Amino acid sequence: MNSLPLRSIYVGGRWTAPRATGTIAVENPATQRIIGEVPDCGSEDVWTAVDAARRALPGWAAAGIEERAAALSALREGLVKRQDELAETVTREMGSPITFSRRVQAGLPVRVLDGFLAELAAATAEERVGHSLVVREPVGVVGAITPWNYPLHQAVAKIGAAVGAGCALVLKPSELAPLSSYLLAEIIDGIGLPPGVFNLVPGRGATAGVALTVDDGVDLVSFTGSLETGRAVGAAAARTVKKTSLELGGKSATLVLPDADLVTAVEDGVRGALLNAGQTCTARTRLLVPRARLDEALDVARAVVADYVPGDPEDPATLLGPLASAGQRERVLAHVAQAARSGARQVAGQDLANGLPHTGHYVAPSVWADVAPSSPLAREEVFGPVLAVLAYDGEDEAVSLANRTDYGLAASVWSADQDRAVAVARRLRVGQVDVNGAKFNAAAPFGGYKQSGVGRELGRHGIQEFQEVKSLQLPG
Ligand code: NAD
Repeated sequence: MNSLPLRSIYVGGRWTAPRATGTIAVENPATQRIIGEVPDCGSEDVWTAVDAARRALPGWAAAGIEERAAALSALREGLVKRQDELAETVTREMGSPITFSRRVQAGLPVRVLDGFLAELAAATAEERVGHSLVVREPVGVVGAITPWNYPLHQAVAKIGAAVGAGCALVLKPSELAPLSSYLLAEIIDGIGLPPGVFNLVPGRGATAGVALTVDDGVDLVSFTGSLETGRAVGAAAARTVKKTSLELGGKSATLVLPDADLVTAVEDGVRGALLNAGQTCTARTRLLVPRARLDEALDVARAVVADYVPGDPEDPATLLGPLASAGQRERVLAHVAQAARSGARQVAGQDLANGLPHTGHYVAPSVWADVAPSSPLAREEVFGPVLAVLAYDGEDEAVSLANRTDYGLAASVWSADQDRAVAVARRLRVGQVDVNGAKFNAAAPFGGYKQSGVGRELGRHGIQEFQEVKSLQLPG
């Protein structure tokens, strides 16, 4: 990590000095030590990067599918080779436990690239509609803005789709966790992608992020982050009728039907809430259980939470690291205080709050019962290790509770009868549902209903998000 060219930006296929003179310090949220500084870029650096992307676009748009697939494969190999370093960097910049970082933060991007490779031919295929030939073309230059919670995965989801679609891209990573993007840029530098197809410009949202969103040279903004910022990005992009792809927050539910194996379902639900300290857009932060089995469910939840002792994220045994920043810790603690004031009852995690490490942005996990369905805890994204348990009477009420939020990102449904679980899953207004613990599919479309977003990422749908569709009417 020390060898990364952190004083530079990556533009037009080389590391170059930025115009920006200021820097952004990156803190390790476990030790609270500064572990790097990156340029605090403004509009001028963004313009230079967009310019480089525009110059690279015609060449890469004309590249054949074999060339694009070769680039995706080379990137995949590069990630695999430096997987340990990538995992360690993500752990140090945002605090996710190292075992999780190896498997997910560094492992998932590899599977994401496999998904793009598997779907590339289908994503770019032309079709006949009557006397028209319908062709798919790259949308152009993509402005990619990413958050800090899965910094490498979110960057690779956008870069892979751009490379597959024939687009050029400018990445602005989160100012809280930009170091893994530097490592990624170093890997991309070594795979022989034409100069300017990928560019990296770090900076803050209000400056570099806004500049990328309003730039005339950007054809599509692909944003992942909070709902509030997503609204601002959508509004700013609308001024130039720029296309936007928004992956925003969630308030996802684990729905345990009465006939389900309660222990397995609740264990999975609690783990789904505490994953990455709850800083996961698809975190299943609501657990819906039949009223008659509420006490049983709370006992299981208590037993699972006991394993999530907050600790050093670099220790392979740690399941719960610190939150990513002091600001995130404050936001989560405000939610927890609000939950207590609203009359919800804390049923797990109290003991863990007493033993928190003295340094680091740690928050103890907590599980809450007697949560009013209309309360913020039941409806708003917390983005911390906080689970709300709600009891329901009957399947209709369960579905209605699950849908009772402005978000619509994900859910899981558990039943002894898979057909019944699938029927309930179809009634949920969300972009993805895991049935009976089925695992994440990095080639399947990912995105949100309602205010969880616009558009889809990953696999064929992710590549097609970065394409325009053209109809050629042919005579006779
Ligand atoms: P955030 O919205 O604060 O920041 C995300 C990115 O946007 C950062 O790079 C930031 O610098 C930039 N930004 C901030 N203001 C901007 C502006 N006005 N214009 C342009 N860019 C701007 O989010 P965060 O705190 O980094 O991430 C946490 C949030 O992301 C959570 O709400 C979470 O649910 C969401 N998220 C969603 C998904 C998904 O796929 N749906 C995935 C991960 C995270």
